[in-house]
Amino acid sequence: MLYVSTRGHANKQHFCDILLEGLAPDGGLYLPETYPQVSDATLTRWRGLAYADLAFEILSLYIDDIPAPDLRALCARTYTEEVFGTRAITPLRRLAEKPAGADVGKGQGGLKSERVLAEVAPLYLQGLSNGPTLAFKDLAMQLLGNLFEYELARRGETLNILGATSGDTGSAAEYAMRGKHGVSVFMTSPYGRMSAFQQAQMFSLTDANIHNIAIEGVFDDCQDLVKAVSNDLAFKRKYKIGTVNSINWARLMAQVVYYFAGYFQATRGNSEEVSFSVPSGNFGNVCAGHVARMMGLPIKTLVVATNENDVLDEFFRTGVYRVRRSADTHATSSPSMDISKASNFERFVFDLLGRDSEKLRGLFARQLAENGYFDLSADPAFKDAAQRYGFVSGRSTHANRLATIRDTDARFGTVIDTHTADGLKVAREHIRPGVSMIVLETALPIKFAETIVEALGHKPARPAKFEGIEALPKQVVVMAPEVGTVKAYIARHCEPVA
Ligand SMILES: *Cc1c(COP(=O)(O)O)cnc(C)c1O
Repeated sequence: MLYVSTRGHANKQHFCDILLEGLAPDGGLYLPETYPQVSDATLTRWRGLAYADLAFEILSLYIDDIPAPDLRALCARTYTEEVFGTRAITPLRRLAEKPAGADVGKGQGGLKSERVLAEVAPLYLQGLSNGPTLAFKDLAMQLLGNLFEYELARRGETLNILGATSGDTGSAAEYAMRGKHGVSVFMTSPYGRMSAFQQAQMFSLTDANIHNIAIEGVFDDCQDLVKAVSNDLAFKRKYKIGTVNSINWARLMAQVVYYFAGYFQATRGNSEEVSFSVPSGNFGNVCAGHVARMMGLPIKTLVVATNENDVLDEFFRTGVYRVRRSADTHATSSPSMDISKASNFERFVFDLLGRDSEKLRGLFARQLAENGYFDLSADPAFKDAAQRYGFVSGRSTHANRLATIRDTDARFGTVIDTHTADGLKVAREHIRPGVSMIVLETALPIKFAETIVEALGHKPARPAKFEGIEALPKQVVVMAPEVGTVKAYIARHCEPVA
């Protein structure tokens, strides 16, 4: 399998080369040259597999430069009950009404129309947030940690990962890379601005290769610092600076697996179709659903659910993709979806345009760069987004989230987090008779406890292993937002060049 850049760069690459690289040299994103097709017989064979074995089967269609026994071992080491809390890794649970009489008149009381819909189509939550940091990013990042360690050892190289986080990505990266050989993490975050739980999760790590850098500023300052360091090519080369952001193909590929796992749990045979509703920000998660669907997984619709930062909903409704200025980005109660542009979106547009990289360059490298938007509303391809690729969308507000959290608790006895609430709210608008709807649960409620308290009046349950983490000693350095200071710190603490 070879990988191509969305912007048409002539060099095709193998998996392990793009694993350690971010963008393609022409600024595009990597995609496989073709999507491997999965036959009915293969689906049947995969149906009974354990998650790690399913991951191996899917990954081996995309990776031809890691020997099969090694890849199998990497999958087996990554997707364990010990790391993900359950044998199913991404367990499906059906949202079923509590017995009549219980809690009648409490909460929202339920929406009548949906009561009917729930009878014609089962509604499920797929739990993607039982990993070490309680958000779905662990599913890909844990694999990435093992892949990095493997490939760096094979090449005799080292890597220093530099990132900026406002929460979920940074902790997922740190828990994936902690204790790994040949790789260190330097994670900047805005000082004092993450929730107490998120700070405790990250700062309580004591591994020598994990470096928390709290920047006296906001998230944008952190991102600017990362960019400034990465733009210093001499420094970047000398200190082997890399990233683990969501445009990394390996992360996307790892996410394809749970769409298959969800499908197998919700269906009995391959003639059944299901829909997925995906709380979306950078379009990484739902793009993996698109890839699964392109491989032949029987997915009816992919529901793109956004919060008030509705860049993606606007596109799927109108055909206009309009990047927001950072001043126009809302700080919401589903903060991991607070984006001004969707960094993985270019991958889908590439497919939508029939993989015409020249046309794609015109949209992303010219129109978007010059005007801040592009408009496909008059392009015949835009109709394909829904008809051919199954995309629909919707948005949700803070009030919608609170109502959905209350309603889900009252009727189904299930507490969901704010991002999952966005997914469920929009899923309701797209339930069709006879097609199961799977809402991806992207985080556990404990990560966003303040909003749960606002909705329900009490704190969400906390997994036992996180009891009292706020009281643990913290390993973090506080720094002014100065590039020189950050560089000096990295130079002093980086992995020795192998
Ligand atoms: C990252 C994240 C999202 C958004 O996922 P994308 O791949 O960026 O679309 C949604 N929910 C949670 C909890 C997240 O951490």
